[in-house]
Amino acid sequence: MGPEGDGAPDVAAATGVPEAPAGFVGCDETIEKLYFYLDGELTEQRRIEIARHLDLCGPCVGAYGFEAELRKLVVSRCHDRVPDALRARVADALRAESNTAAD
Ligand SMILES: [Zn+2]
Repeated sequence: MGPEGDGAPDVAAATGVPEAPAGFVGCDETIEKLYFYLDGELTEQRRIEIARHLDLCGPCVGAYGFEAELRKLVVSRCHDRVPDALRARVADALRAESNTAAD
């Protein structure tokens, strides 16, 4: 907690990721950009930043994974049918979500 390492911004404190390197994007920004990331609408630089964040941040990986599954679900529905394995995974995720809210 001492005033050491002055000069570099305290990225670790700002993002909650202890090993956050310089230039690390925060959780809020990552989540915000996830939708563009999933749509492939980000620049290469942004994709790298977010991929690096997902490498280090568990909660965001969970959010990204869930959104990615949903996106794939929607895409596959448009084409043909939803694979059973994927449908089961999404159903599990939704069930786990509501279980935390229930008893
Ligand atoms: Zn994060």
